[in-house]
Amino acid sequence: MNNKKVMIFSAPSGAGKSTIVAHLMKRFPVLGFSVSATSRAPRGEESNGKEYYFFNTEEFKKKIANNEFIEYEEVYKGFYYGTLKSEIDRLWSQGKIILFDIDVVGGVNLKKLFGESALSVFIKPPSLEVLRERLTGRGTEDNESVERRLTKAQYELSFEDKFDVILINDKLEDCLGEAERITEEFIS
Ligand code: 5GP
Repeated sequence: MNNKKVMIFSAPSGAGKSTIVAHLMKRFPVLGFSVSATSRAPRGEESNGKEYYFFNTEEFKKKIANNEFIEYEEVYKGFYYGTLKSEIDRLWSQGKIILFDIDVVGGVNLKKLFGESALSVFIKPPSLEVLRERLTGRGTEDNESVERRLTKAQYELSFEDKFDVILINDKLEDCLGEAERITEEFIS
C-alpha cells in the first residue's frame, strides 16, 4: 500500500476549495479525482460519473447496507454523500494518487483511515468576515442561508488542527502557488 497515496482537501463552504482543487487537477496529471456518490439531484450541467455518481435515497441506503462505502455522511439534512470503495480501487488500479474533495468531517475520517499514506489539507478563509463577504458576493444565497453557512463554517473551523496542512486562501494566486508546492512535495 506504500505507493498508494491520497490527498484530502476539505474546507468550509466559500473558502475557495473547488478553484484550488480544479487547478491542481489540471496541473498534476498523476492525480485522480475521487468521484463521490450522492443522493442529491444533479445541478446544472452535472453529469453522472463526472462530478458525482447520482443515486436516489433508496439506492444510496442499499449501498450503505452492503458496506460499499469507505465513508459516508448526511452532509445536509436528507442528502447523503459518500466515497465508494470501488472508486478507490478504480483510481489506484490506474496508478493515480487520489484527490478527495470532501467535507471537513469526512476529511478527518479519511485521514484516520489512510494515516501516513494521506496528506490532509484544510483550506481556510482569512477570517469569518471575509467568508461572509464571499458568501454574500456570490449573490446566490439569501441572508438566512449565508448565516447558516457561517454557523456551519465556525463549527468546521474547529477541526483545522486535525489536518496535516492549513492553507489560508487570502490572495488566490499565492494560495494556488502554495497548494502546488505542497502537492509537488507530497507526490514526489
Ligand atoms: P455539493 O452538494 O455542494 O456538491 O457538496 C456539498 C458538500 O459535500 C461539500 O462540502 C463536499 O465537499 C461534500 N462531499 C462531497 N463528496 C463527499 C463525500 O464523498 N463524502 C463526504 N463526507 N462529503 C462529501
